[in-house]
Amino acid sequence: TRRPLVAGNWKMNGTRASIPVVEAIRDGLTPDLASRIDALICPPSTLISACVAAVSGSSIAIGGQNLHARENGAFTGSISAEMLADLGATYVIVGHSERRAYHHETDDGVHAKALGARRAGLCGIICVGETIEEREQGRALDIVRAQLAIGLPKGATAADTVIAYEPVWAIGSGRTPTPKDIAEVHASLREMLDKLAGEEAHKIRILYGGSVKPSNAREILSVENVDGALVGGASLVAQDFLGICAAY
Ligand code: 13P
Repeated sequence: TRRPLVAGNWKMNGTRASIPVVEAIRDGLTPDLASRIDALICPPSTLISACVAAVSGSSIAIGGQNLHARENGAFTGSISAEMLADLGATYVIVGHSERRAYHHETDDGVHAKALGARRAGLCGIICVGETIEEREQGRALDIVRAQLAIGLPKGATAADTVIAYEPVWAIGSGRTPTPKDIAEVHASLREMLDKLAGEEAHKIRILYGGSVKPSNAREILSVENVDGALVGGASLVAQDFLGICAAY
């Protein structure tokens, strides 16, 4: 049985004035929930230190939203996995669709970044997901399976890898796939993981992301092979993030 992970992706939102949100999540996560699920917040890099300090002594983890694949070097403006780990981050999102769309990240690039995360001891959250055109063409499964096959490094384990299925058209749109459609994609990703990661596959968590909110969390999180959520907008509001956690 896989331990659920509820992860918040703050995207490019938040300043030091947002630290009370993390504190409210810390204080609102009941010991009972904390004993049953993992909770993670991925703030902008500028807030990682302050968030790590805010959750210290709690079970909440802090992660990055992106990384450079290399350890260091002449890559102005970039941040390595080692730098994130140095701040106390333990996870990092890899290949989010916004990175793929606006920063031209490829599946090979995702693979390199996932290796970078592992090198520094971070757990990489590898994101996959189809566009609306790809879904309408009946290509959703082919797309996400290919993204996983290329992006996932050899020898992936549950300790260094989480998968997140985020249909691009469900992100920030208020639209979500039906539970049946989510189940179909997650089953297909699980089957792909079996091929790629062997024995370890059944331990690797597959999150769903895209317009998850307290009102739909229970239905989505109860779908077979959905091991948690990657939450955007709703993770910026402590009560909403906690409401999603409370679905467990
Ligand atoms: P929303 O929850 O705002 O749809 O964003 C999902 C997402 O992209 C999380 O990474």
